[in-house]
Amino acid sequence: MDCDVVIVGGGPAGLAFARSLEDSGLGIVLLERAPLEALATPRFDGREIALTHGSKRILEQLGAWDRLPADEIAPMHAAKVVNGDSPFSLNFTAGEGEAQLGYLVPNHRIRAALYDAARNQPGLRLITGAEVVHARSGATGSRAEVLLSSGEVVRARLLVVADSRLSTTREALGIGADINPLGRSMMVVRVRHELPHGATALEWFDHRQTLALLPLNGNLAGAVLTLPEDAARRVAAFDDAALGRDLTRRFRQRLGRMEVVSDRNVYPLVTTWAHQFVSGRAALIGDAAVGMHPVTAHGFNLGLSGQALLAAEVCDAVRRSMDPELPAALRRFENGHRAACKPLYTGTNLLVRLFTDERLPARAMRHAMLRLGAGLPFVRPTVRAMLTH
Ligand SMILES: Cc1cc2nc3c(=O)[nH]c(=O)nc-3n(C[C@H](O)[C@H](O)[C@H](O)COP(=O)(O)OP(=O)(O)OC[C@H]3O[C@@H](n4cnc5c(N)ncnc54)[C@H](O)[C@@H]3O)c2cc1C
Repeated sequence: MDCDVVIVGGGPAGLAFARSLEDSGLGIVLLERAPLEALATPRFDGREIALTHGSKRILEQLGAWDRLPADEIAPMHAAKVVNGDSPFSLNFTAGEGEAQLGYLVPNHRIRAALYDAARNQPGLRLITGAEVVHARSGATGSRAEVLLSSGEVVRARLLVVADSRLSTTREALGIGADINPLGRSMMVVRVRHELPHGATALEWFDHRQTLALLPLNGNLAGAVLTLPEDAARRVAAFDDAALGRDLTRRFRQRLGRMEVVSDRNVYPLVTTWAHQFVSGRAALIGDAAVGMHPVTAHGFNLGLSGQALLAAEVCDAVRRSMDPELPAALRRFENGHRAACKPLYTGTNLLVRLFTDERLPARAMRHAMLRLGAGLPFVRPTVRAMLTH
């Protein structure tokens, strides 16, 4: 099979990239390992994605935002960071002229909206149940190619890799990556609580556990509990009543009694950073390029901005003459996306290291950091701008 662009992975990054090429005139093939139902009607996976204003704009342009169920879009007005038992908190509110910091939308709704927007796109062929088992980026040849488990080969002028943080396509291309398993897991579950959350997200670096509450519409929240892997699995195995009691206790009744209202999901935490985002005729987007720790809620936001940058460069190359222009276009994408991701990736990893270190100096240091953050006039606007745009 021959095409202009082959995309490996129909997750939110791959689908968003396919949508971004709508007006490019290119023939696109998107290969997704999962069956069609997983794309058309993805199941709830517990991820409540905090979207920035910039991400909302991109999703609007891709025709996905209007496909989200309105009652599943929850405005986030403020965020609060708390350290251990300290009564002090570092607070963030919306910037001038903005009604909210950002939005919370369930991941499965974003995926369904992107699929719905993409499914009848002219020039795009979505092939599900198609697992890529090998790839070549065609550094010297005129085509990149991928091999499917069925034995079929797809050749393309551009290969876009969007098959997640433990990307096997990235590996097949010989692109190395820093892969850091953190030995901790994140358990996520929806809860109903007694007291209103005031549309305020909470990030609480408590002793030996990290807790987060993501405010949804009504008295509902996404509860996020980060623990060592075996402890997270143990807690996730509680029945609903026991888990509700456990979460009420862990959150120290901040929002009163909690009741579990969804399935729970457990995500082992691993961060990744690809050594190159581009090789020959291949480019990496989404988690395949950068797998962020979820604590700063930026993985998908960066994935969206990265795919938008790549699409803009590819469309520009197509307007001039795709093949000769492609190497320079990919280089510009790589430089731009690495520069955008590096500070957030490094900063998030440092933050996680500091805020999960139980030794006394680290605890004192994070307390001082939060105080300093609240006291220095430029810190909160800078962090807010980084987190929301
Ligand atoms: C608990 C949690 C909370 C999060 N919260 C936030 C948040 O608040 N804000 C935010 O911005 N981000 C958040 N993220 C990150 C966000 O979910 C990811 O960045 C995003 O889902 C990555 O999308 P992706 O398309 O790159 O990868 P994925 O969603 O992993 O999709 C990859 C796709 O590739 C397919 N695939 C894999 N291998 C192959 C193959 N060999 N052949 C064909 N297909 C293949 C898979 O089936 C899958 O459909 C969170 C993550 C977690 C775990």
